[in-house]
Amino acid sequence: MPGSFRIGKIAGIDIDINVSWIIILVLLTVSLATGWFPQLYPGWSSATYWVVGLISALLLFVSVLLHELAHSLVARRRGLPVKSSTLFIFGGVSNIEQEPKSPGVEFQMAVVGPLTSLLIGAVCFLLQLPLRGTNSPLEGILFYLAVTNVLLGVFNLIPGFPLDGGRVLRSIVWRITGSLAKATRAASITGQTIAYLFILLGIWLFFAGNILDGIWLGFIGWFLLSAAQSANTQVMLQSALRGVTVGEVMNPTPPTVPANISLQKLIDEYFLPRGLRFALVIQGDRLAGLITLSDIRHVPREQWEYIPVGQAMIPVERLHVVSPQQSLNDVLPLMAGRDVNQLPVVQNGIPVGIVSRDAIMRYLEVRRSLGSGTPKGDGGKQPSEAA
Ligand SMILES: [Zn+2]
Repeated sequence: MPGSFRIGKIAGIDIDINVSWIIILVLLTVSLATGWFPQLYPGWSSATYWVVGLISALLLFVSVLLHELAHSLVARRRGLPVKSSTLFIFGGVSNIEQEPKSPGVEFQMAVVGPLTSLLIGAVCFLLQLPLRGTNSPLEGILFYLAVTNVLLGVFNLIPGFPLDGGRVLRSIVWRITGSLAKATRAASITGQTIAYLFILLGIWLFFAGNILDGIWLGFIGWFLLSAAQSANTQVMLQSALRGVTVGEVMNPTPPTVPANISLQKLIDEYFLPRGLRFALVIQGDRLAGLITLSDIRHVPREQWEYIPVGQAMIPVERLHVVSPQQSLNDVLPLMAGRDVNQLPVVQNGIPVGIVSRDAIMRYLEVRRSLGSGTPKGDGGKQPSEAA
């Protein structure tokens, strides 16, 4: 997810924080220190309100983390690789690399998060019972955590994708219809509808004078909306590309250049006349590397005459290469993760083609215009001129 940074690793799972969390942390601390705690526990010093506000906000963060880890650990026990968890206020987003294989697995994975939150809420509620009426900061913190964790559990059970409740809904529709794509669409539409309701309610509260709550709800709605849309796109893409191999969409005659010519010659004789943006670099019949326009731009213009392609290219050791038999569903995340637009296709060390994002998008475009397994929305990026 863009705008996220890593804070650590638990049980082999990277923990990321989205910048939205920082904004929320500040908003939350302010509203706790100036609203919630002074109203419920009058008579503390102002410093106490701020410290308790911050501690409570951070402990809520830990609660969210536990909720998220519950998802990740169940996913992993069910054989789904989990890379990272990104935290956002009401539950995070677990970066689970594959979609669950069956509705049963999806159901378990989804429901364990809210259950964890409800459990934490119940424990905190029981712990604060003996402190009731003491007006102490500890009572305040425990009561706050009890309330928020129960809310967290309930909120996440709202049946809109990608909330846990949306996943529960999806697993149920999936079980009934037998179609993951249909189930995803249903859960995503519900999710977007709920997101718009949050935004509308936020705007209404804002203009009704309840500014902070309004911003809150609007923010949650906006997050839900973008998450629902991107989750939907991703699943549509995956289902459209299921069973398609690299060999089917690759360009089997990629532009190739020898490693020993100069960059100037590469530009004058290959890139400019043929309108290329990249080429495979060949030594003998083996792949030596990949050269792209941006690699050339990293070399000062006055050196183009002297620097050979072999020196400016990305050498094969640093390249990720794929085989013609690999599934596009494995290859596309690889491209996205490494932010590259093309990958060389190699069989037994010999280059047999190149697979590019453009080619994959073109494939989807053609599939769509033929009306088979129609991917919707973002699948239709206009193909630009490729080599
Ligand atoms: Zn969750």
